[in-house]
Amino acid sequence: MEIRFEKREKLKDKPDWSNLGFGKYMTDYMFICDWDREIGWHDARIVPEGPIEMDPACMTLHYAQETFEGLKAYRREDGKIQLFRPEMNAKRMINSNERLCMPAFPVEDFVAAVKALVKTEEAWVPKEKDTSLYIRPFMFATEAALGVHMAKSYKFMILCCPVGAYYATGLDPVKILVENELVRAVAGGTGFTKCGGNYAGSIAGQVKAEKLGYSQVLWLDGNERKYVEEVGTMNIMFKIDGEIWTAPTVGTVLPGVTRDSMIHLLKDWGYKVREERLAIDDLMKAGHDGKLEEVFGTGTAAVISPVGELRYNDDVVVINGGKTGELTQKLYDTLTGIQWGRLPDNYGWTQLVD
Ligand SMILES: *Cc1c(COP(=O)(O)O)cnc(C)c1O
Repeated sequence: MEIRFEKREKLKDKPDWSNLGFGKYMTDYMFICDWDREIGWHDARIVPEGPIEMDPACMTLHYAQETFEGLKAYRREDGKIQLFRPEMNAKRMINSNERLCMPAFPVEDFVAAVKALVKTEEAWVPKEKDTSLYIRPFMFATEAALGVHMAKSYKFMILCCPVGAYYATGLDPVKILVENELVRAVAGGTGFTKCGGNYAGSIAGQVKAEKLGYSQVLWLDGNERKYVEEVGTMNIMFKIDGEIWTAPTVGTVLPGVTRDSMIHLLKDWGYKVREERLAIDDLMKAGHDGKLEEVFGTGTAAVISPVGELRYNDDVVVINGGKTGELTQKLYDTLTGIQWGRLPDNYGWTQLVD
């Protein structure tokens, strides 16, 4: 893949590195590649970041044929920049696209495009502790037509934005509401894909949770509303009586890169990891019996998110006194250590951008 470069006249002002938040400041450039039925992928380019032209009949705006990914570039203490398992994101996007009848962007080209853009935007990879450059690859139908069908043309793009430390003052447990009515995914649906449509349908649950003073939703399975699946943007794990439980990724659950990495670490540390269905009633009972030792969400943005409280209908369980558990902290320290290059990477998970 050859990538053409279009220079920006005037570079943007850099944001205040100590107050980045999440997803607010796009960098100077973006990657674009076009696909059509006749020639396939063509015209890969890095161009100034900014608005793109779109026909109002663009099929994405009507039928949401759209998928995305999320990964980060990390600045190491020696100044070098590294990525974390980018091939997993590339492969996952291919799986998402297959389900949505969208073309595959090849794994090598995905990784090459990410590296080329991050290299171009080196000056945007922040140095402050726990900050990073968030990378958002996404693909969408561009054909202008109002009939529902597999579109004849698509765009694959990548945006970058520097993001702040997720936890300003150490890990901070969240309160989670178990959603008892709305569902996120059903068997045979698109739950395992990272597609915008999944999120559109989940916002109502999020709004409901926030009204009740909870920051996230824990979704149950869509068929019986009986088994725990995942949180809005995170997979979730439970430490019960010394063992780790997490939902199997069998179609309704997003196969997280962070989830997979945590499972590797946990198994290496001798934990039994049960990728099995866990009924919400059994989970709440474990909580009341004092067997639910730790609960944490896993995802690229926060890495790990300790859960201090779970509410299901009128039943409330407080976990570990509402404090971050020991294993949660150890997983966070280890994975962030590897990602930012502070700890040796014995798994071959990191790759330099050079
Ligand atoms: C992205 C995402 C995750 C986490 O995946 P990571 O690869 O670990 O970032 C979990 N659940 C959903 C629904 C997601 O969209």
